[in-house]
Amino acid sequence: MLPKGANLQKIHNGKKTYAITPHLPGGFIKPEVLDKFAHVSRMYGGTMKLTSAQRIMITGLKAEDIDNIWDELGMQPAMGFANCVRSVKICPGIAFCKRGKQDSIKLGLELDTRYIKKEMPSRMKMGVSGCPNSCAEAIVKDIGVIGTDEGWDIYVGGSAGAHPRLGDKLINNLNYEDTIRIIDIIVRYYQKNADIERVGQFIERIGFQKFANDILGEFNNNTVTELLTKPYSEGEQIIPKPGGLTEGNLVVGDSINEDSLIADIIRVYPQTIPVLRSFGLGCLGCPSATGEALRKAADIHGLDVNELAEALNKSILSGEK
Ligand code: SF4
Repeated sequence: MLPKGANLQKIHNGKKTYAITPHLPGGFIKPEVLDKFAHVSRMYGGTMKLTSAQRIMITGLKAEDIDNIWDELGMQPAMGFANCVRSVKICPGIAFCKRGKQDSIKLGLELDTRYIKKEMPSRMKMGVSGCPNSCAEAIVKDIGVIGTDEGWDIYVGGSAGAHPRLGDKLINNLNYEDTIRIIDIIVRYYQKNADIERVGQFIERIGFQKFANDILGEFNNNTVTELLTKPYSEGEQIIPKPGGLTEGNLVVGDSINEDSLIADIIRVYPQTIPVLRSFGLGCLGCPSATGEALRKAADIHGLDVNELAEALNKSILSGEK
């Protein structure tokens, strides 16, 4: 049986070695987290390898060390299971790139939050590029989004694997909200109608015209009243600003403690929002409330901070966003 959260990499002289790949939304990583990768790689004899999905894989590991490594990293595996949304590749966009036309980080991280690890008929990859240079290779993703001066262009059915295929342009010049809405329609339609096949294979089978007519028909009629995944309200989005990812108190992989700021907790671990609300902490869009440390918020609400931190950490380790 495979060790939890690991892939079999190699069998050499009868000995098996494994790799793990923690989830790093958008490929952003703080120095402290990078230190953890270096530490476990050194300690357990692993080799770090950058992946095409903007992650760091640690390979060459022994099965018996995998659980300890996950404990020490305190992170979640990037992959849920074979047929799910596997990755959202994001270019730097207007936040960091002089050529950027649109905010690819904001959109890409929202797509990551909504869809990563969601079950699909086959594996699905997404890519978000901030301009037509398409550094996130959006045109060879199952769903690709490219920013222009006018908005976002949507491509479907791309693949760079064993059966390479360029995505078909579905629609152009969408605003941010409509981009989220049409991606949700595409995902739903694919989930409902595809066999075990990538989006491109599905399109080849039913024909692009039918695919486009069905998707755009639903989009133009605005018949969808509820998105597949719950959107986060203003203030709860994970939107890093230049330098912001290195200024907070908390990074992906950290445990939450009494000194963690509420703003950092909901930015880094949006899955904790229902837990905070269940403890009566409802002001999650308010900058002054979210600027408080967990300890102070617990005091104000008459809560036991240790109990609160334990519930939050438990929700992080439960794995599903
Ligand atoms: S796609 Fe455009 S915005 Fe994104 S990194 Fe490349 S050049 Fe910059």
